[in-house]
Amino acid sequence: MAENEPPRLFGTNGVRGVVNGTIDPLFASRLGLAFSLSLRRKYGAARVKIGTDTRVSSEMLKSAVVSGLLSGGADVVDIGVSPSPAVQQSVGTDDLCDGGVIITASHNPPQFNGIKCISADGTEMSRDEEMEIERLFFSEIYGGDWTEMGHFSEDYSANDSYMDSIVSQVDAEAIKERHFRVVLDCSNGAASYTSPYILERLGCMLITLNCQPDGFFPGHMSEPTERNLKDTAAVVSALSADIGIAHDGDADRTVFIDETGRYISGNVSLAIFAKYMVRNALSTAGPAPPVVVTAIDSSSAVEDVVKEAGGVVKYTRIGSPVVARTMIREGAMFGGEGNGGAIFSCLHYFRDGAMSAAKMLEIMARTGKKLSELADEVPVYFQAKDSVDYSSLLTEGGVEAMSRIKERFMQALEGSIIDTSLHLSFPVTDRNTTDGIKLYVAPSAGETGWVLIRPSGTEPIIRVASEASDAGTAKKLVSETREFVLSVMKNL
Ligand code: MG
Repeated sequence: MAENEPPRLFGTNGVRGVVNGTIDPLFASRLGLAFSLSLRRKYGAARVKIGTDTRVSSEMLKSAVVSGLLSGGADVVDIGVSPSPAVQQSVGTDDLCDGGVIITASHNPPQFNGIKCISADGTEMSRDEEMEIERLFFSEIYGGDWTEMGHFSEDYSANDSYMDSIVSQVDAEAIKERHFRVVLDCSNGAASYTSPYILERLGCMLITLNCQPDGFFPGHMSEPTERNLKDTAAVVSALSADIGIAHDGDADRTVFIDETGRYISGNVSLAIFAKYMVRNALSTAGPAPPVVVTAIDSSSAVEDVVKEAGGVVKYTRIGSPVVARTMIREGAMFGGEGNGGAIFSCLHYFRDGAMSAAKMLEIMARTGKKLSELADEVPVYFQAKDSVDYSSLLTEGGVEAMSRIKERFMQALEGSIIDTSLHLSFPVTDRNTTDGIKLYVAPSAGETGWVLIRPSGTEPIIRVASEASDAGTAKKLVSETREFVLSVMKNL
């Protein structure tokens, strides 16, 4: 860690923690105050919009953050319970708004909650902006004079504008003609206020599951995994629906179930979107190949279909804020990650669960293909994941100690790979150091795969991931790589 760098609060998706444990009202109001002061330094005055997901603790944390914001002199507009992309859109499209706050822990269990700060353009904050807030948080700060308190107001129109914009950004007429039968699962989260109405406006025949807002998540946990969506998938096939659509708790992500009840992984839906968006762009855009941006751990299936369609893939570090910022820089029309988070730049530069759902319906309507057919066109790869815990090496606590070990580990890893070619039983054909180290390997003639070794940004673990065209090889790659990480750790 560089000198003068403050202790880290923000992870890849804001600050998260257990309510009244790591995240309590004192913490939240201080963070609100720090955010308020950082905005006032930048813009002179500050106007902030704040929205929440459906968690039981969201109202409590919102009140605390609002208190801190007002004490620092920021004017606050409460927009109520909204999907994250609706809050972001409301911030980004309002010229008078200097920033936003979303109270959400996305897909985490119900005892968790989080605080996410949003830039004036609606995108997730850059690391530099977060560090400015962290610096203020850990210094001597106080709100302004009593005459300078911020003003508080409410405006609950964000969800309506959001729904209008989704419907206007897809081929609504083509979708309506198909009268799709849709099983929609909002995971009792924020999408309950928007997605059912968007899909109704797109002429879908709806069967809703867990679309009543409930912060206890009585239907299933709010992470849209295959396991959590078993019942949803069974309903899709039992009721002969065309598609199952499921959001995470704050509705910035969407996963799909095909008409046979098969769970479609986030990497496969990302590839379906990428292929379609590249083809669309080629039919309308200039001579430059369309760019798709994705994180370094996404499936090679995405690159395969993008190349075949005539586009180019740019890889980034893991995390949607960096994917979005790279998309802006590269002029990309589409980007996303393999976790169901997709960014369509025609609408805005952040993940949008409802836009993903509407786009998938548009693809089905325009191609005339079933979701199973679209999924079967994507090359098949298998991924495996594991991790190595190094908390026993931490003789002292704190972020600084963790950063020092990570730095030493990465140096040792670089050296070891050059010296020994990783002790893998497969030859290494290429490497990429965008985030950690990704090694492309050739398990056998004509076959490709990769391994990725990457220290976690927030926990004392080294993550190991792999991909290959069969499950056994993917597992073998990951376990060999894990052994190698352990041996490098031992020699630190
Ligand atoms: Mg989310």
